[in-house]
Amino acid sequence: MALAFSSIVAPRFLPMRLPRVCLALSGDSAEDMLAIAESMARDNPFIEFRLDYLKQPLAALPNIHRFLETHQYVTAIVTCRRADNGGKFKGSLASQLDVLAKAHAAGCQILDLEIQSALKAKPEAVARLRSRAGLIVSFHDFHATRKLDETLEKMLKIPADFYKVVTTATTLSDNASMMKFLQTQSDKHALIGLCMGEQGIISRVLGVRAGSVFTFGAVSADLKTAAGQVSARDLRSIYRIEQVDAATRIYGVAGDPIEHSLSPVIMNTALRRENVNGVYLPLHAKTLKDLIHCVREIPLHGLSITMPYKQAILPYLDNTDAHTAKIGACNTVVRGQEGKLYGFNTDIAGVLRPLEQRLSIENAKVLVLGAGGAARAAVFGLKERGAEVWILNRTAVKDQKFARQAKARTIKRADLRKIAFDIIVNATPVGMGNTRDCPLKDQEIQARVVFDMVYDPVETHLLQVARAKGIAVIPGVEMFVQQAARQFEIWTGKPAPAGDMLRAVTIALQDRAAAQKQQKS
Ligand code: NAP
Repeated sequence: MALAFSSIVAPRFLPMRLPRVCLALSGDSAEDMLAIAESMARDNPFIEFRLDYLKQPLAALPNIHRFLETHQYVTAIVTCRRADNGGKFKGSLASQLDVLAKAHAAGCQILDLEIQSALKAKPEAVARLRSRAGLIVSFHDFHATRKLDETLEKMLKIPADFYKVVTTATTLSDNASMMKFLQTQSDKHALIGLCMGEQGIISRVLGVRAGSVFTFGAVSADLKTAAGQVSARDLRSIYRIEQVDAATRIYGVAGDPIEHSLSPVIMNTALRRENVNGVYLPLHAKTLKDLIHCVREIPLHGLSITMPYKQAILPYLDNTDAHTAKIGACNTVVRGQEGKLYGFNTDIAGVLRPLEQRLSIENAKVLVLGAGGAARAAVFGLKERGAEVWILNRTAVKDQKFARQAKARTIKRADLRKIAFDIIVNATPVGMGNTRDCPLKDQEIQARVVFDMVYDPVETHLLQVARAKGIAVIPGVEMFVQQAARQFEIWTGKPAPAGDMLRAVTIALQDRAAAQKQQKS
């Protein structure tokens, strides 16, 4: 298809400095793609058009041309990656080069050509593309992160303006390799580097400070063009990628799985609110060895530790606080200046702070349901404050041993009505995930305060029954916020903005519930 405008369009030049985030735009049709571009251009003045996602890439060019004419501030990359090379374009090499040349005529300033096509094409054809626009030669490894320097060496044989090296992180440490590569090579060449996959988030957020000219952001969580891509909005608003610099301290939550963790929302809210130059990332650690390697290499300044590593992390720590030693579990790690790792347990603060805001704990009669890690934090914390504590656990042997350690008592379910409890704490997962399950029968729920550690849903059945009886309730989100607030204080030495953190997590939980409802309907 001949483009009538190709000869009359004035070339659009590349700006001297590119924005840090390029919006990776795909769509089922040119209309869809341009509609998204229209709606997002104001916040995303740097856009990659993935023409290989379209059945007829050339047919989209007049629309792209009109869009760029009316959005002069937009810098556009065009990509039409061939299916053989990990893209979706099924046409020949010649037609791929034709699409790129015509996309430049339509106003796109940067053309992305994958290394396989660049090597197959005649050097004059590649040079012709480059004479018209900025040329990215790109490399993708969809399986691993390996041989980065060798790969770049091969790529450098093709003269280009940018070299894009995209690999797949199968460990957290792969990010460290990518960042080291960027740090050593980016002063010699204009590089774009990142790791794909859920474990690649470190490189997606921190690659720009290691030397990547920019990185890619998705339109939304549902509209990604690569595995592990973070939305452009989250890169800016949650991870504050525009502000990340050499002094930015890196924190994270490490666990397996980690995808649904709300900790990044809450902690990044706190860091932003308190003007701390820090960023907090979700770290999917498949092994602790990998995590610890990353802590040292990136380096990471602080970690929240979650399932299944709260006990397993202990041998890796140089020292711990008294709470960690007592409970036998650590949920917070600080990396000291000399590289030593110190462990803390902030679940105790998570239990005590919400209770102390409501009543005096000294001499209070407390029933704790459960004998796992969370129950241990509750019981030891409550005992420290002078409460009388009874433990009720599904497996009786466990609660007896635990009660002896904590100088608490056990109680049989049949005896619950014999004691007038001030506080009931649910430290079991019963009620999690929008069920109607409840750890106690309605008539067993008698106290001044009922505290449910379960935080999703925010209002569990246990809390609904308690509230209906006029009992004060504490939802698990308050514990979640307060244990995080204490972590924030340990890491930064500043008081945590607990109110803002609570608001952020409540909104995130509401959004999640709404999305789940929509999925079901
Ligand atoms: P854990 O170490 O696995 O312990 C779970 C405890 O719950 C055990 O005592 C277990 O009894 C009991 N339990 C499990 N399923 C049960 C059932 N169907 N009926 C009765 N008892 C049952 O877990 P954890 O780390 O202590 O966490 C417990 C809960 O607290 C989880 O829901 C977790 O999400 C929540 N939590 C919340 C926060 C927060 O910030 N809000 C923080 C930490 C934990 P057995 O000994 O008989 O197996």
